Amino acid sequence: MIFYKTKEEVELIRKSSLLVSATLAEVATYLKPGITTLQVDTFAEKFIRDNGAVPSFKNYKGFPFTCCISVNDAIVHGFPNNDILQDGDIVSVDVGVYMNGFHGDSAYTFAIGEIKPELKQLLRVTKEALYKGIEKAIVGNRVGDIAYAIQEHTERKHGYGVVRELVGHGLGRQLHEEPQVPNFGKRGTLTKLHEGLVIAIEPMINLGKKDVFYDDDGWTVRTKDGKPSAHYEHTICVQRNKADILSSFDIIEKNEKANTNLESGYY
Ligand code: MG
Ligand code: MG
Repeated sequence: MIFYKTKEEVELIRKSSLLVSATLAEVATYLKPGITTLQVDTFAEKFIRDNGAVPSFKNYKGFPFTCCISVNDAIVHGFPNNDILQDGDIVSVDVGVYMNGFHGDSAYTFAIGEIKPELKQLLRVTKEALYKGIEKAIVGNRVGDIAYAIQEHTERKHGYGVVRELVGHGLGRQLHEEPQVPNFGKRGTLTKLHEGLVIAIEPMINLGKKDVFYDDDGWTVRTKDGKPSAHYEHTICVQRNKADILSSFDIIEKNEKANTNLESGYY
């Protein structure tokens, strides 16, 4: 069953989503070569709790951490650990917070130090694909229109692998609600989009092939060919002419840029 949200509910989801964005923006300033992903997780959890919210993922179906942190060939659901981030890594940080009875959910893939041009392009194209999907999230379209736009830009245009096993989702009082929002599919298919539908759109795009496997931890999803993967996610609300993006990359991008300039010595 789909729960369409009232305007008041959408505002509460926006609050939660913007706290997720603020958390990711803090993470953007914190990330650098030499730190561990477990340090990132501890830092993010403190920030969320200091802001009066609860991390949505912690203990969700037994997930033991605040963030899913997925480095290089890890696609999503990575466990924060004591591995040290290296110059040239790409790191997906996925965060959810629960506040005032509603969840927000967003993810961003960061570059650590200087990354290869092929990875820069993977990040750029995956982010572009997210916004191309969001463009289709308007009243009268269907979930398949979002899915098609993402697959078109990533798989057909750039030859990347689109993960099939994991998809975006509705959210609100629950972290995962109906409908599922895949990143591949046919135009004009799946759930019809009505005003007040809140969904997380989250392309998971592999530099190589689409195939995945689960790590021994039972959570971390990795590419079968060992090539890197990118992941960007926004929580959005379907509207008549233009989707309302409830999370925001603005401060994340600003901090990311400042962090990069600092590392390169440009003040
Ligand atoms: Mg997420
Ligand atoms: Mg999600």
